[in-house]
Amino acid sequence: MLVIFYPDATEAQIEAVTERITATGAGAQRVVGAEQTVIGVIDGDRDHLTNLELDADPGVDRVVPVSSPYKLASKHRHGDVAHPVQIAGVSFGGPTGEFRMILGPCAVETADQTLSAARACKAAGADLLRGGAFKPRTSPYAFQGLGVEGLKILAEAREETGLPVVTELTDLRDVAHVVEYADCIQVGARNMQHFPLLTEIGRSGMPVLLKRGMGASIDDFLLAAEYILTEGNANVLLCERGIHAKATPARSCLDLAAVTVLKEHTHLPVIVDPSHAAGRRALVEPLALAAAASGCDGLIVECHPDPRTARCDGPQAITLDALDGFVSRVQAVATAARGF
Ligand code: PEP
Ligand code: MN
Repeated sequence: MLVIFYPDATEAQIEAVTERITATGAGAQRVVGAEQTVIGVIDGDRDHLTNLELDADPGVDRVVPVSSPYKLASKHRHGDVAHPVQIAGVSFGGPTGEFRMILGPCAVETADQTLSAARACKAAGADLLRGGAFKPRTSPYAFQGLGVEGLKILAEAREETGLPVVTELTDLRDVAHVVEYADCIQVGARNMQHFPLLTEIGRSGMPVLLKRGMGASIDDFLLAAEYILTEGNANVLLCERGIHAKATPARSCLDLAAVTVLKEHTHLPVIVDPSHAAGRRALVEPLALAAAASGCDGLIVECHPDPRTARCDGPQAITLDALDGFVSRVQAVATAARGF
C-alpha cells in the first residue's frame, strides 16, 4: 500500500506514521516528490495495516492499496494471461480454450431420470454432466437429494456416457463420498463463504466449480477461490449464477459484467449458469446466448426428461428434445463472439 501525505505534512507527522507502520513488522520506504511525500509499505500484513486507519493520521492525504488481496487467483500469477484448468481430461479456459457445456438435471431423482438426461446431454455435445445428490434447499421440508445413492447413479451415468461428473458438496462430512464418485466438486452459491468447506475441498485436490454467492462482491468471490487455491488445489472454475436484485423480473439478476471484470482480475476460467438466474424456461436461452457473447468459457445449464415432474427446479429445466438446438445456437454465438 502507498501512504500519500499532504504537501504541508511535517517531518514529525511523516515520522510518526512511519513508526506506526514499522511497528506492525512491515517495511516503509519513503519517496520524496517535488510536492508530496509518499511511503511505500512493504511486506506487511494487509489486515493489520488496514486496521491502523492511517488515512486518519495527521498529515496523511490518502492511502492507496497496491497489491491484490488474492495472491494466487490474481492474473499476475500467470503472466497476465488466462490459465486453463483440467477436469477429468476436459480443459476449461485459457487463451484459446473451447467453449464448454455442462448439462444435466438439477437433482438426481432416479436412475432412469438421470440416465435419460445424461444420454441426451451427451448426444447434444455436453462436455460434463451435472446433477445434485446433495441439494441445498431453502426449506428443510423440500427434497434434499438422494445422497450417496445419487452419487452412485451419477457414476453409472458417467460409466455409460463417458461424461465426467460435477456434483455439489454441501457438508464437510460428505467430502470423501463425493471424491469417491465425482470428477469435480460444486460449491453452491449458498456455501461460497463456508470457509472450512472450501479449505477441505482445497485439500481434497479434486477440481472445483465455485459458484458466486448471491450477494458476493468480486473480491469476496476471488477470496473464496483463494481458500481453495492456497491448499494447493489449482483447478478452480468460477461460475456467475446471478445475484440478488429486488428489481429483477428473473429469479436472480445475471451479472454478465462480472465475467469481464473477473477475467480482468484472474487467470481462472469463468463460466455462467443461466438456469438459476432465469428461474423459468423462457428466460434460460436468452440469458445463455447473452452469456455466450460475454466472453465466458462455458455454461452450466439444467435440463430434465419431464420438467413437470421434477423434484427440484423443474420450471427452469430445458426439455431434452430442446437440447440439440439450444447447444448449437449457444455455440454459434460463442464462436461469433470469439471471432470479433
Ligand atoms: C444448483 O446448481 O442446482 C444450485 C443449487 O445452484 P446455486 O448454488 O447457484 O443456487
Ligand atoms: Mn438447481
